[in-house]
Amino acid sequence: MASKKILVLGGGAGGVVAANNLIKKLGEEAEITLIDKSGYHVFQPSQLWVMTGQREPDDIRRPLKLLERKGVKVLVEEVKSIKPEEHVVQTSSGNIHYDYLIVALGSLPEPEKIPGYAGNVCTPWTIDGALKCRRLLAGFKGGSIVIAPVSWPYKCPPAPFEAAFMARYLAEQRGVKADVTVVHFWKEPMEPFGPMMVGAFKKFLDQYRVGFVGNVEVESFQENYLVTRGGEKIKYDLAIAVPPHSPPEPIAKSDLGDQSIWGYMKVDKNTLRAPKYDNIYGVGDVIAPSLGIGMAGVFAHFQAEYVASKIIDDIKGAYMGEHYNMSGVCVMDMGYVGAAVYCDFTRKIMAGEYPDCVILGGMKAFRAIKYAFEKYWLSKWF
Ligand SMILES: Cc1cc2nc3c(=O)[nH]c(=O)nc-3n(C[C@H](O)[C@H](O)[C@H](O)COP(=O)(O)OP(=O)(O)OC[C@H]3O[C@@H](n4cnc5c(N)ncnc54)[C@H](O)[C@@H]3O)c2cc1C
Repeated sequence: MASKKILVLGGGAGGVVAANNLIKKLGEEAEITLIDKSGYHVFQPSQLWVMTGQREPDDIRRPLKLLERKGVKVLVEEVKSIKPEEHVVQTSSGNIHYDYLIVALGSLPEPEKIPGYAGNVCTPWTIDGALKCRRLLAGFKGGSIVIAPVSWPYKCPPAPFEAAFMARYLAEQRGVKADVTVVHFWKEPMEPFGPMMVGAFKKFLDQYRVGFVGNVEVESFQENYLVTRGGEKIKYDLAIAVPPHSPPEPIAKSDLGDQSIWGYMKVDKNTLRAPKYDNIYGVGDVIAPSLGIGMAGVFAHFQAEYVASKIIDDIKGAYMGEHYNMSGVCVMDMGYVGAAVYCDFTRKIMAGEYPDCVILGGMKAFRAIKYAFEKYWLSKWF
């Protein structure tokens, strides 16, 4: 008989890994329920391939209801609020009680908050936005393309560079003359990752003729000009923007959220538990600001394995599971080649220092690895 009720909020990278691991090890020893408002899991790194025409939206998403075949109960409902004192989550259709809660609600990219999001401005940070980018790239007859994040934090810190390399490759493949430039608020490319990564990215930018303008805050996109906070104007014919991101509302408005980190969820760095509530864990983008790291699926994945292990151990009495692996690998498709970046974030999370990073390669084989990982991901969890 199921005794403990485990509630997983969110069916993204963190939520599906947690739910899969829990059901595999606990079976009927627990009732595992996953709640997601969209009903779909989206493999977001592939949104860049939706932009470049290599994928259609249905290629990169899976209905979460497929998890029911494994025994996970899936509710397609919106989480409205969390009442930690009462161990209750309120959804669009009622109250649900839990013994353990895993919050994996991510962060919300909001294209409508890009100042001047119209015409020839698009964003692959959402699927609709990626389709718009594809239409704009299809009609691009030459000129300048800028790639610009509007604010921090945003998902996948290196992704604007990846998008820039892809745009440069696409133009070149088509024989269209294009100046491609990343306009960023960092002074140098990948600045928070330390001098080694800055050097490696500068080399890639030089090699593939992508410009970089740093230390620039975007004020707005106006007609064909990006206007900076300093009043400067940077011309573009096509702009790929990274939208402002917001914390999930149920977190921001509960005492799980912390205003000093924009309303995202606060957790203990060692346990990933909410400081005041022993039975509530956070994983993924929603806790990235609390740990002081970027938002990435690889973090969500490892954190979910760790948190699931802790709950399994608690319920079973003894279970040697996954430790909290604070490292991350990001494989980028740059068109010409693929490149993989590996960083161990232990020193970053624990002491606020630079992560220890290495570039694993700039070669064709890494594009194949990226393709293979997408296939592995969607077949492993569904
Ligand atoms: C263009 C792009 C490229 C990327 N490339 C990479 C990469 O190469 N490598 C990498 O590691 N990461 C990459 N990422 C980042 C990665 O996809 C995210 O960091 C990861 O998906 C975060 O996982 P998560 O589980 O925290 O949140 P998500 O995967 O975003 O899942 C959150 C889920 O919560 C649901 N939800 C939100 N609010 C509610 C609510 N109120 N009620 C019910 N459900 C709700 C949403 O519907 C969603 O399904 C990329 C992202 C983008 C956009």
